[in-house]
Amino acid sequence: MKPLPARVRDMMRQASDDVDVAIVGAGLAGLAAARELTRAGASCVVLEARDRVGGRTLREEIGDGKYVDVGGQWIGPTQNRLAALVRELGIETFPTHTAGENVIEWRGELRRYTGTIPKLGRHVLADIAQAQARIDRMARQVPPEAPWEAPKAERWDGQTFATWMRRNVATPAARELLRLAIEAVWAVEPEDVSLLHVLFYIRSAGSFDILLDTEGGAQQDRFVHGAQEVSLKLAEALGDRIVLGAPVRRIRHSPAGVEVEHDGGTVRAARAIVAIPPVLTARIAYDPPLPGYRDGMTQRMPQGAVIKCMAVYDEPFWRKSGLSGHALSDTGPTKLTYDNSPPDGSPGILLGFLEGRQARELGRLPERERRERVLSGFARIFGPRAAQPERWIEKRWAEEEWTRGCYGCSFTTGGWTAYGRALREPIGPIHWAGAETAVTWNGYMDGALESGERAAREVLAALGREHREPALGR
Ligand code: FAD
Repeated sequence: MKPLPARVRDMMRQASDDVDVAIVGAGLAGLAAARELTRAGASCVVLEARDRVGGRTLREEIGDGKYVDVGGQWIGPTQNRLAALVRELGIETFPTHTAGENVIEWRGELRRYTGTIPKLGRHVLADIAQAQARIDRMARQVPPEAPWEAPKAERWDGQTFATWMRRNVATPAARELLRLAIEAVWAVEPEDVSLLHVLFYIRSAGSFDILLDTEGGAQQDRFVHGAQEVSLKLAEALGDRIVLGAPVRRIRHSPAGVEVEHDGGTVRAARAIVAIPPVLTARIAYDPPLPGYRDGMTQRMPQGAVIKCMAVYDEPFWRKSGLSGHALSDTGPTKLTYDNSPPDGSPGILLGFLEGRQARELGRLPERERRERVLSGFARIFGPRAAQPERWIEKRWAEEEWTRGCYGCSFTTGGWTAYGRALREPIGPIHWAGAETAVTWNGYMDGALESGERAAREVLAALGREHREPALGR
């Protein structure tokens, strides 16, 4: 057959690139949006910068068909969207290992404890309890869909969490434990984040406890084949609607629609859903430029910093000494450690998080040095065997061009009250998704799904489409 002239081939390619909706990003948010749109009979294409789907979820094989997550990994109670999807896709989860005693390294000493909060003396416990009760009480006053409407929004948004702690938490030990909690949940220092943002986030999840707890909380269960399996299965059903290796560089927009330019071409669509972290949305060029109000929002929402470090041993030797593998440390460099072994306990894996300042500082060291420092911390807590792993796995999320930090973006002071409305407000034919735009479980995988589904509904309403019977996955 005679080959088609290049001009005709180009025209055909252009024609096939015309869709109802162009989605930027094949993380959980973008994939959830695509699934929702496809079910409703709308055509879409998902443009993904990386050569894989899953974004901030990423699994690494450790042999024998077993995986560890170097990105998001836990699912907990009330994360109902994710739980329903996991059931529907036939994905297996298992409880995080908690049997045994936890350890806290505090002022140079090791102490064993059980539960979430270590026993550091009656005064400290009472101080933590009063602080937590106040935080939860304040959080309940924050409407998760509009935090700027909280009765004391201006006052709470005008201070950092560190400022609040100085005024409201009496004991240095309780302040330090709360600092650890802020680093663990937001991967920032208490000085970096607006009090209103912390309260919003707690409200969005339900309570401070649910964010911090393993059993009954956000760290309760893990995915047998890694959390990325959710994205992989969603992507499988979406097929060639997903284009990998297609970083979006520019979005031209008008009331008539969008032209989304990526490294492999241009997609024309009636609407776009940009499903990437807010800070990265500002790295795409828009023509015409987005309103200053939208850009001002992205300037006030930096990513946190996390390095996930895992040491792999032939067995979880700490379990034999009655330890759970869960540890807190005031020294670090990993201040928070978990047993991250596969369901059958083989091999044994210790997971340490470098968060906030520790991630920023150690992230700039050569890997060998970072590994030595983390392992010497593990050895102080779990004994000399911890310094001799068979394998080292780490992921520095700030170095990832298409993420640039983690776990997610948090508003700095004044951000919510001055610019919060810009987070989800569509601009002409451009809609916004991503875990940071979620109302429930903001910043989590569950929130990412919520945001994608919400953005898809916005688009379907704008296109005047009715919801049709599910076309995918059922
Ligand atoms: P992303 O996953 O960031 O997806 C965005 C996608 O867009 C990416 O694939 C990216 O490559 C792509 N992209 C970016 N820019 C462009 C562009 N210009 N053009 C095209 N594509 C682009 N959540 C939990 O629920 N439980 C946990 O235990 C948990 N732990 C975490 C631990 C770590 C280390 C990290 C990193 C995250 C963790 N999270 C956890 C958070 C959770 O992973 C995220 O909230 C969620 O995966 C975000 O999904 P998303 O689709 O909103 O964004």
